[in-house]
Amino acid sequence: MADRTERERVVIENCAVATVDADGTEHASGHIVVAGNRIESVGAGPAPDGLRDVVRRVDGTGHLATPGLINTHHHFYQWLTRGLAQNANLFDWLVALYPVWARIDEDMVYAAARGSLGMMVRGGVTTAVDHHYVFPRGAGDLLGAEIRAARELGVRFNPTRGSMDSGESDGGLPPDFAVETTDEALAATEAAIDTYHDPGFDSMLRIGVAPCSPFSVTTELLRQAGELARRKGVRLHTHGSETVEEEKFCHEKFGMGPTDYLESVGWLGDDVWMAHCVHMSDADLTAFGRTGTGVAHCPSSNARLGAGIARVPDMLTAGVPVGLGVDGTASNESGELHTELRNALLINRLGAHKEKALTARQALRLGTYGGAQVLGRQAETGSLEPGKLADLVLWRVDGIGHSSIADPVAALVLGSAPPVTLSMVNGRTVVEDGRLVTADEELIARGARDEARRLARIAGEAG
Ligand code: ZN
Repeated sequence: MADRTERERVVIENCAVATVDADGTEHASGHIVVAGNRIESVGAGPAPDGLRDVVRRVDGTGHLATPGLINTHHHFYQWLTRGLAQNANLFDWLVALYPVWARIDEDMVYAAARGSLGMMVRGGVTTAVDHHYVFPRGAGDLLGAEIRAARELGVRFNPTRGSMDSGESDGGLPPDFAVETTDEALAATEAAIDTYHDPGFDSMLRIGVAPCSPFSVTTELLRQAGELARRKGVRLHTHGSETVEEEKFCHEKFGMGPTDYLESVGWLGDDVWMAHCVHMSDADLTAFGRTGTGVAHCPSSNARLGAGIARVPDMLTAGVPVGLGVDGTASNESGELHTELRNALLINRLGAHKEKALTARQALRLGTYGGAQVLGRQAETGSLEPGKLADLVLWRVDGIGHSSIADPVAALVLGSAPPVTLSMVNGRTVVEDGRLVTADEELIARGARDEARRLARIAGEAG
């Protein structure tokens, strides 16, 4: 499908609109006008009269329009290893899966990326992050494979070039055959930035720098990766404070907890976001708030691995930018962000703040504007406002699943995942009537199944 010109307009009318702007503006019945790849106007009632170059009018009756969802943490390759180690905590789960992951190759990562992205996009995700950190020798161009998949699906993509350089023989958790040398990891990360990173306002592709975690990466790699990212003007991402075992590991190896350790190597700042942050003291939260360090909250994965409940209400009070993350689908087989909207609210209500933990609107904000904030893209996407990029979703809330819920935002967040009637990324339609329009879902499903079987066979023969 050719991109439309700047002047061509799409008009969406008669829908409820949750803009997720700073004031939380909502319209019970409103309109959105898209011109080219930008939002031109949003407001109550019908679109202004006399608009020229209107190429499409959408009757949004029975729908809620929101900004597109933003997924801030994922590991696409895990799409091929779902449903394994079902009753393990993080470290046991990793030790069980590392030998399988060490056998991945380019075709597998491409199929896994199409599966991961396809599932998210058809569920309303318009900006996706991936954190890829397993680069077996001779496996091919793994980062290139997922970038190809994202381009085909038409999603705004923020792949982070991950790395592991601390194997078992160095006191790290991963087996030695799954890690790179420090220099290899840094050189490949720099090459990825030089090849792919686009800093522009309407960028469809931004690279991040993402050594895997304190327990799989050397201090030297963390320090130099931070310097590289700042020299290049790109963002930093890693896992932090996910489990009590990680906290114990950091205290034993570095003599301090994960947040103090990451701060000691230059890893707190408004250009950094970390996944999980479950085990955070008040002082840790204050440090994140003071420095503007962001959090990718992954409630389903944290529950699946028994990691604990991240203190999201306290993070928001401390001024920490918080987005939502699916995390890898080996620890969250659902693979769609709607599950995280719902679980962010439900799981945080099991924590200290109980029923006052998060509102449905705060959950929607985490999944949209909050995600844009942790990616440093809040000026460009994350809310429906004139001048911003046309990344938006039209959710059907008058069908069997939702028609009796009077509040459309509650229908979206507390109800089942509503059908996506329309999703646009950069003004381009990527989902229509619940189906991907940029790719064949059956082909994606078959490709993922075939590559998952091939990986299981190769890993079985090796192991
Ligand atoms: Zn993760």
